[in-house]
Amino acid sequence: MATLTCQTIEISRGTTHDGPGLRTTVFLKGCPLRCLWCQNPEGIPVAQGVWWEARKCIGCLSCVAACPTGALQAPHGELVRDPTGCTICGACVEACPSRAMALTGREWTLDALLHEVLKDKEYYQAFGGGVTVSGGEPLGQATFVAEFLRRLQKKGVHTALDTCGLAPESALTSILPYTDHVLFDIKLLDSELHQRVTGHGNDHILRNLSIVAETLRMRNAKPPSNGYRTLQLWIRTPLIPNTTATPENIGAISTYIHEHLADVVERWELCAFNSACKQKYDKLGSPWPYADYDLMDQATIDSLREVALSAGSDPDTLVVSGLTARS
Ligand code: SF4
Ligand code: SF4
Repeated sequence: MATLTCQTIEISRGTTHDGPGLRTTVFLKGCPLRCLWCQNPEGIPVAQGVWWEARKCIGCLSCVAACPTGALQAPHGELVRDPTGCTICGACVEACPSRAMALTGREWTLDALLHEVLKDKEYYQAFGGGVTVSGGEPLGQATFVAEFLRRLQKKGVHTALDTCGLAPESALTSILPYTDHVLFDIKLLDSELHQRVTGHGNDHILRNLSIVAETLRMRNAKPPSNGYRTLQLWIRTPLIPNTTATPENIGAISTYIHEHLADVVERWELCAFNSACKQKYDKLGSPWPYADYDLMDQATIDSLREVALSAGSDPDTLVVSGLTARS
């Protein structure tokens, strides 16, 4: 069998929001959505990219000399980038003495990635955590992810899948047997608006969510036995100003969860907007429509929470996360 490999954005250790307990989260490259607010723009293409960090640059222009395509220029002695002309050859990364130029990800073999995350196994056991695959969209590298999670479970590690939900049904069902916990995004309930701000409607996403819910119902109905593993489901909604963070959308999602998923959702998390990813867009040389947005204020968050509760949400499952602006 050929060696399985995956493309990752990064690995984060000690994460506390990507499933229960203290976890290691593997962010995989590649995403079928194009959310305008994307927090991991470097993770959208499966292929590697190149980005540039201004504060590390010493202005030597070695990268310009190394670039074979003219994607890097210095018409007035300062570096000017044209990402559209870049073929990701990596010559500028090699040439840069200060690591201001870097690749946006890395390739791992299955064995190497398992070895890497199993270094933290003692922490998972001590703090009730495990390994989460996130992205990008991990279902886009389903063959690798299924085997990765299967091998982790065999080692006694709790596994979680963090998904936007847009993937072939076969990808989802190949991974669910090796998944202990699913974090599933519902961004917008209005499919037309979903299409406008993410590039896809949500019909297929909601169908996949119903598969997760049905799997959970069937699996958790079985009597506990040796090797028995239950499945938990958390829903996540990013609160994006003027987009998802509206009373209409939060009320609609709340009603949907109440009517279709109340028996299976352990937690519904409203994730407050932040602009921490702005520097990623700067490094990629790409504009970001939310660059000038501030943190949301507490009063807005509180009112959205009230909307969610009024529309049927269980106060015990509703959680708000993230920073808010100081009043
Ligand atoms: S090679 Fe590196 S340090 Fe030199 S100009 Fe290019 S990015 Fe800056
Ligand atoms: S990776 Fe892109 S920017 Fe860098 S040298 Fe190659 S073509 Fe030029």
